[in-house]
Amino acid sequence: MLTQQAVILCGGRGSRLRPLTDTLPKPLAPVAGKPFLFHLLSQLKRNGYTEVVLLTGYLGHLIAEEFGDGSTLGLSITYHHGPEEWETAFRLAQARPLLKEHFLLLYGDNYAMFQQERLEQKFVHFGRIGCLTVYPRKARANVAYTVEGDVTTYDGTRAAPGLNGVEIGYALFSREVFSHFTGENESFSKVLSRLGEARQLCAYSLAGEYHSASDLERLKITDAYLRPKKILLIDRDGTINRKMPEAQYVTTWDQFEFIPESVEGMRRLAESGWTFAVVSNQAGVARGMLTEAEVWDLDRRMVGALREEGIQVIKSYYCFHHWDDKCSCRKPEPGMLLQASRELMLALENTWYIGDDLRDCTAAWRAGCRSALVGHSENWQQLPPEERPQICCDTVSEFASILLSQ
Ligand SMILES: [Zn+2]
Repeated sequence: MLTQQAVILCGGRGSRLRPLTDTLPKPLAPVAGKPFLFHLLSQLKRNGYTEVVLLTGYLGHLIAEEFGDGSTLGLSITYHHGPEEWETAFRLAQARPLLKEHFLLLYGDNYAMFQQERLEQKFVHFGRIGCLTVYPRKARANVAYTVEGDVTTYDGTRAAPGLNGVEIGYALFSREVFSHFTGENESFSKVLSRLGEARQLCAYSLAGEYHSASDLERLKITDAYLRPKKILLIDRDGTINRKMPEAQYVTTWDQFEFIPESVEGMRRLAESGWTFAVVSNQAGVARGMLTEAEVWDLDRRMVGALREEGIQVIKSYYCFHHWDDKCSCRKPEPGMLLQASRELMLALENTWYIGDDLRDCTAAWRAGCRSALVGHSENWQQLPPEERPQICCDTVSEFASILLSQ
């Protein structure tokens, strides 16, 4: 890890969150029963960061009272406080003596599923002063970047042609960034414009969604997203039911054979309140071996049979494409997991995907999801270290015991 230090801009007035911010600084806005900033700090901790510098301003003493030295979160938190009037670049520059050779910079009102190792890989690959995390979209964009991650323009006024992403924080910088500061009380977006012109920025493109606490409406959505949910994502063939021999597909209900240990494990999880969403490749459709309607008919029967066991499947996602179609949903691509995240409001970094194939682990990693590999636990070492499952076990029943004992 290039740095274990993160810096969070927490000083703004948050006027779009009024009346909430009449008495609270924006980072303390309640989300899923905790201050918004709590979720950011917990995420940093999970990603291996140990040291956090909070740049406070408006009602900053309340933030310091809430988090103290960070020890209850397993972090070391220091504060740099300044007046509300300080703009973001100026606020960052004042804290310069506290900053390491490299640091991760976050805005105190954005939450994204981010992957520290991918961001660092990009940063190292380009060797520039900063690597931004960018959410791809054309509307209200401020960054133009290539598929590889070369940032060609940063435009804080959002007017330049060809803009295709919005920068959301979670940016990695080297201290060299301070050579592009003017000493004026200006916003960090001005600094980014100069870095863009100097071709000193690269970008890591966010695969999933990002959420924000910037206004009351978005806060409500973020609240729904970050609320803990007892939903497990699970593969079908080889995980819930027995797999057919290589290159053959379950095409009729006669061929659909539940794995008893899986049903048993799912039943115990269901008794503890867990529900399931199925995520499965069904290339047999593209290969002409069965139709989409037949897959959905099998799905209906499977869901019904599981319901009789007290197991609730709330949604199923199938990819019907051929591997030559190069779609974004066929695992190991993460498309179906990302779709589940959007539709079920799942924060994937706190979500499990259970599968029996190494591609399930890769898809989970690409989506930023945790993975459990069942049935072929000896194979996991074939995966690159970052893609390896967090849990390896022989059966879904064993996974259930592990999860329920946590
Ligand atoms: Zn597909």
